[in-house]
Amino acid sequence: MQQNPYGEDPVRLIVELAAAPPRTPEEFAERCVAAGMAIDRPVGEEDLAEILEFIPRWLAVVDAGTSERRAALLNELLTISSAHPRLTDHADGGWHIHYRADGLGLAGVVRAVVSVGTALHLTSRGMDRLGRCALAECGRAYGDFTRGGRQRYCSHACANRDAVRRFRVRQAAQNP
Ligand SMILES: [Zn+2]
Ligand SMILES: [Zn+2]
Repeated sequence: MQQNPYGEDPVRLIVELAAAPPRTPEEFAERCVAAGMAIDRPVGEEDLAEILEFIPRWLAVVDAGTSERRAALLNELLTISSAHPRLTDHADGGWHIHYRADGLGLAGVVRAVVSVGTALHLTSRGMDRLGRCALAECGRAYGDFTRGGRQRYCSHACANRDAVRRFRVRQAAQNP
């Protein structure tokens, strides 16, 4: 996955992994490939364990109550997951920037790409552009890529379900 300047693809990937954590190394690899990542090393149990340990740490960034707290938690993830930027042309995609060391396993690559991608997302769109779905029984994390930045639900399905529920509550109140 080449990092676009706004970090959208990595944020979408970690949101999806957090919503339904992978159960096997194979599933983890398949879902990363589906998200556009290249797999250049075998993916094993240690990768699965590493990403399952990383997901709650990324969710803590989502759940941070203030921008300062969010930045501090994300800076910790950047410290342990990313490296100084470097130019590379290892793939056919041409020259691009890596924010990680060479030779990492898939989980290491995902941690780097997601940490940097989340930092780009928050600094380009706004520090409040991560949240949890407002539908009580959902609560999934989402990245807000909308123009206005006022997303409250993880999906249209959850927004619609909550709208229907509020409509019924209002109706019941009006027609007791
Ligand atoms: Zn690359
Ligand atoms: Zn939801």
